[in-house]
Amino acid sequence: MDIVKGNMGWIEVVVGPMFSGKSEELIRRLRRAEIARQRVQIFKPAIDSRYTANEIVSHSGLGIPSDNVSKASEILEKLQARTEVVGIDEAQFLGDEVVEVCTKLANLGKRVIVAGLDTDYRGRPICVRCGNPAVHTQRLVDSEELIVVGATEMYEARCRRCFEPNPAQARKEAGPVIVARSRGAASGGA
Ligand code: ZN
Repeated sequence: MDIVKGNMGWIEVVVGPMFSGKSEELIRRLRRAEIARQRVQIFKPAIDSRYTANEIVSHSGLGIPSDNVSKASEILEKLQARTEVVGIDEAQFLGDEVVEVCTKLANLGKRVIVAGLDTDYRGRPICVRCGNPAVHTQRLVDSEELIVVGATEMYEARCRRCFEPNPAQARKEAGPVIVARSRGAASGGA
């Protein structure tokens, strides 16, 4: 989870492996925006025909209506001026262009919430901070910790530029919220 502040709008990225609850988190945030009476538009790639055509559905069955797009630029074409919040699910299928589109949306003052796998279409990891190909696994906790295996909040993929050798520093940069924290990442306790 990463918040990139733009001029007025901003981008929230919900990343994680499959079944980590990304769509659920996206839906939760979009629902909250709707409850706050903000105008919301939701997009997903046409390639994802899971469950229903014009709806984002999480694995637990939560649903929210969406617009299907075949490429990222279509989001800009379909964007309504009065929309305040833009949700994008399964963003990994929209290619690199989605990064540019999200930036444009944020610069237009939109709140952008993007969910997707933190890998590219070939399964290669993507830097969760900037979207470039990741070559490093960034550790987010100090090295004295012994048991960190499987705890998703302990690591994230980063590119060469965003890699931070000092885990404490990396943790500071990593942002306040990590998705799927509750999913069996039991690293605490005695
Ligand atoms: Zn990066």
